[in-house]
Amino acid sequence: MKPITLLVLTAALPVLAFGADMMTPAYYTGNLKGEADVFLSACQQIHMHHPLENPEGRMPDYRIPRWGAFGAGKGPTRTEQHHPAEDLHIGQRETAVELYAAHDGIISTVRDAPKYRHYISITKIITDPDGRELGKLVTLYGHVDLDLDEAAGLNLNGKTVKAGELISKHLYGQTRGGPHLHFEIRYYRPTDRGTEEFYSMNGSVPGAGEWPKGRWDPDTGYGFGLAENHALKL
Ligand SMILES: [Zn+2]
Repeated sequence: MKPITLLVLTAALPVLAFGADMMTPAYYTGNLKGEADVFLSACQQIHMHHPLENPEGRMPDYRIPRWGAFGAGKGPTRTEQHHPAEDLHIGQRETAVELYAAHDGIISTVRDAPKYRHYISITKIITDPDGRELGKLVTLYGHVDLDLDEAAGLNLNGKTVKAGELISKHLYGQTRGGPHLHFEIRYYRPTDRGTEEFYSMNGSVPGAGEWPKGRWDPDTGYGFGLAENHALKL
């Protein structure tokens, strides 16, 4: 009996893994679920450029602390806050760090966001083969210093960039826990109510809960993605 049981388990595993990665919100049913799955599948076809990798293919040393990993709580005083992103700490608290676009898209730069000071986002419209919009793929690069970037002649707000293009030269030095890149992947469908604001103005994290594989938030209507779903090894 035992060998047969093992065989069945082995056969079922790929199906389970596939289902876990689809990340369709629970309130999406029927045709809507089908549309969301098509959108997410299209998003996940995009293989991302590493945000720290320069055109020569070189990257600085970096690490992701356990508490900075996707889905981690944020320590004893912030245990209810989940973290749908990765925190990349570079070298010895370095701030002169070059960041690169993970994918093609249009850049927005945002100042004075709650908790994140400055951040950069890149939005790519995802379309079906007929050109109909399925949704948007957005990556967010938090804790950058746009003032120093601007002083260095780098202001990309509203500009179109290609994957791998330089988007920032500076992390913010005073970030809690030390300067680091907060890298986040989001998905938005056109009809969702979510905005591209990093965090809502009341300072709450959208949708408390577990984030082991990314998820959608039923109230705000957007989802988070894992780097590995984009063939990106952080
Ligand atoms: Zn973070």
